[in-house]
Amino acid sequence: MNSISQSFKSKNIYSYTLDELMGLLEPSFRAKQIYHWLYHQYETDFGNMKNLPKNLREALANTFEITHLEIIKCQQSQDGSKKYLFKTRDQHTFEAVLLKMRDKKIRQDGSIQEGEKWTICLSSQIGCRVGCLFCYTGKGGFIRHLESGEIVEQVVQIKRDNYISPHKRMNIVYMGMGEPLDNLDNVSMAIRILSELEGLSISTRRQTISTSGIAPKIEELGRMNLGVQLAISLHAVDDELRSKLIPMNRAYNIEKVLSQVRAFPVDSRKRVMFEYLMIKGVNDDLKSAKKLLQLLDGIKSKVNLILFNPHEGSEFERPNLDDVRKFADFLIHKGLLCTIRESKGLDISAACGQLREKISKENVSYETF
Ligand code: SAH
Ligand code: SF4
Repeated sequence: MNSISQSFKSKNIYSYTLDELMGLLEPSFRAKQIYHWLYHQYETDFGNMKNLPKNLREALANTFEITHLEIIKCQQSQDGSKKYLFKTRDQHTFEAVLLKMRDKKIRQDGSIQEGEKWTICLSSQIGCRVGCLFCYTGKGGFIRHLESGEIVEQVVQIKRDNYISPHKRMNIVYMGMGEPLDNLDNVSMAIRILSELEGLSISTRRQTISTSGIAPKIEELGRMNLGVQLAISLHAVDDELRSKLIPMNRAYNIEKVLSQVRAFPVDSRKRVMFEYLMIKGVNDDLKSAKKLLQLLDGIKSKVNLILFNPHEGSEFERPNLDDVRKFADFLIHKGLLCTIRESKGLDISAACGQLREKISKENVSYETF
């Protein structure tokens, strides 16, 4: 007998882990079939789930909803990256980016196999309440958290839109709009759902949470022991400057953040990433590089230097590439792993909140502020 028991946390089917769905369905193996339709076939209509009995298909359609997001704009960069603007059912907009990277592998016979590596940069909130001085998302204020299903659906929609095979390996970074640790319940649920082996099967080790440093939430995330990677948006090496750039530093200063990072469970083959946004004349000098080296002493870390991406109304400027290289060379020479973030998708303004900015300038009616 097929039936759905009567306790629902949400109508959004993407908000359910496999176990939760199994708990709702009798017989429970139906949940796996539904998962395959949703995450391997990217199906959006219960009516098309042909291996389910008709009465179950009808019951599912009466109980759950599949599509909650609409792609309202997609811009493709010359490097193959794509930026998506999504609209929610309550008419808010937010972004996600598909980043395409070249991947080279050396075969046993010494020949080189070239492939593609996909990373999806997800949003966790509509807007953000941290309010960093340099960030366009922060300037727009906070509207609401994204539900776990809305976070998961970004991946499904982007994979479907690009015909990416369900079995293709992907990386996820929570570096779009919003502060993921300010929405930890929904983000951690999304991480679990994305990693389900019967579903998208994106290992937690391939998922990276980037945070501006909510120290107690770093601790909470650590206690969850999900196996996710951690990235810290550091951006400054002294509290005075960091508090100017990231007002939350007044509550959780550099030392408080770093002490939580030291306690965080890091996979033995992985490192904590420190993101350092380089702003011309503000934090791009060698004195800062030296201090950064001292701060990270004893932490298994890698540094990712990001070039400030200017947006209208921002008081900051992009640093000189020469200064960025000197900064990076200094750290590398001292033995630190350091990369300069490729300006992927710069021609589609692929930094926090900037596609949304453009659309709002075009005076499109769905924009809410
Ligand atoms: N809230 C989280 C994750 C989203 S922001 C965090 O702050 O870590 C993701 C990254 O985008 C951050 O490292 C942030 O520094 C970067 N970013 C924000 N505004 C930017 C800009 N104008 N130019 C370049 N990077 C920017
Ligand atoms: Fe929020 Fe991150 Fe932007 Fe700061 S940089 S305002 S934390 S999204």
